[in-house]
Amino acid sequence: MKIPKKYKGILKKNKDKSKIQKEEKEEIKKPPSLKKRLKNFTVSAISHAVKGMPTCTQEEIDERMSICQKCRYFSNSRCVKCGCSCNNNKKFLNKLAWADQECPVGKWPKVEKKEK
Ligand code: SF4
Repeated sequence: MKIPKKYKGILKKNKDKSKIQKEEKEEIKKPPSLKKRLKNFTVSAISHAVKGMPTCTQEEIDERMSICQKCRYFSNSRCVKCGCSCNNNKKFLNKLAWADQECPVGKWPKVEKKEK
């Protein structure tokens, strides 16, 4: 079947649009490079140490986790925006457990801890 000329432009435009959308989706699921993740982690770890390594309560971690699980940047227990590990554990290598950390796109804030 021959497609009339006037529709060819529309078809090409739609094809280009879906290609761009597919590329954007792949970009979202792609974490930053190892070099960038190491840099992010080093900067965050130094800042965390300087502030006295404040940690979140399990409730605060769970609350952050529920926000991350609904986020389009969340993939395989990792935030693909910053490359950090995000899980429910109260472990050292978990961005959600560090009270002084905040979401890179502003979905959850730092938790202010009062000094004892
Ligand atoms: S830290 Fe922020 S950007 Fe990353 S997955 Fe969680 S809510 Fe999304």
